Amino acid sequence: MVEVYRPDTLEQALDKLAVGDHTLFSGGTDLMVQHSVRPGMTPSFARDVVFVDAIDELKHITQASLETQAEGDADSALFIGAGVTLSEIERYPQVPDILRQSVAKIAAPALRNRATMAGNICNASPAADSLPALYLLDARVVLSSLQGQREMLLEDFILAPGLTQLKQGEMLTHVVIPQADLPETFYHKVGTRAANALTKLSVAGMAKISKGRTGKGKLVDWRVAFGAVGPTVVRNRELESLLVGQPTEKLAKPRFIDEVVAMYSEIIRPIDDQRSTAEYRHQASLNLLRRWLSQLSVS
Ligand SMILES: Cc1cc2nc3c(=O)[nH]c(=O)nc-3n(C[C@H](O)[C@H](O)[C@H](O)COP(=O)(O)OP(=O)(O)OC[C@H]3O[C@@H](n4cnc5c(N)ncnc54)[C@H](O)[C@@H]3O)c2cc1C
Repeated sequence: MVEVYRPDTLEQALDKLAVGDHTLFSGGTDLMVQHSVRPGMTPSFARDVVFVDAIDELKHITQASLETQAEGDADSALFIGAGVTLSEIERYPQVPDILRQSVAKIAAPALRNRATMAGNICNASPAADSLPALYLLDARVVLSSLQGQREMLLEDFILAPGLTQLKQGEMLTHVVIPQADLPETFYHKVGTRAANALTKLSVAGMAKISKGRTGKGKLVDWRVAFGAVGPTVVRNRELESLLVGQPTEKLAKPRFIDEVVAMYSEIIRPIDDQRSTAEYRHQASLNLLRRWLSQLSVS
């Protein structure tokens, strides 16, 4: 018989997770669908369930220094607790705009009042809407167990659809977002309608242009992440480093835009499924990239 626990503290949760296999249950908006039996019937779980939605320590967003976690430090990061809902993330003033935009595209308000970003991450769907923005922001995840904490880049944490580096006895407790200066960002999700739309594909981008003493500009930072066009979100740092340093007069040239689009065309590998076709996903992703590139303020 499956047992259900609802600990009030992180310590109680980790004590429970240390013994045996459990399903972690946060907002339950993925789990209730995945474990449903048939309409009107209680979902069926194979393992004991640990609800993590009553743990007060995980329900806060704080700003702290990356090294010392001392409040108010200039070189700070946002620490988003695993129990913070998507609606709370949307409302928090210091959340980077690109993350706010992508979270606001998830389902509809009622679901966002219950669902968490931790659940969106740990479900590890390549179409999860918070992921492209989080990859772009160099977000990190903190995993806690009775043995202590480990932290890693989100893009290293997610291994394949539905598969992460989470080990038995661990849970995700915080998402860490370095507070970088993100001057020009872009986010677009393609779905079938405005709300409650499953993602066919999405593109997130960031470009930073700096002017030298001569007044000539160059690209000093460039990041692009694609959702739902591969087994995990696609962000290619090698390609990004090839583009950093390019002078702005080159950026606006149609030939240069063609070259960049061609490079990304090689690395995205969408599939056909019930939401869309591989061909549509491939072409629409590249069209969005092209549109953003041609709209960059390079003057
Ligand atoms: C009608 C509907 C519409 C939706 N629309 C969208 C959409 O537009 N875009 C989108 O991206 N998603 C969508 N979803 C999917 C879902 O709502 C999101 O992925 C949501 O963010 C999941 O969060 P949750 O807290 O409900 O996760 P849960 O269902 O509680 O958990 C999801 C997974 O994460 C694990 N988990 C949860 N918390 C932790 C933790 N702290 N540590 C480790 N593992 C953990 C669980 O064990 C489970 O495997 C939709 C779902 C529904 C039902």
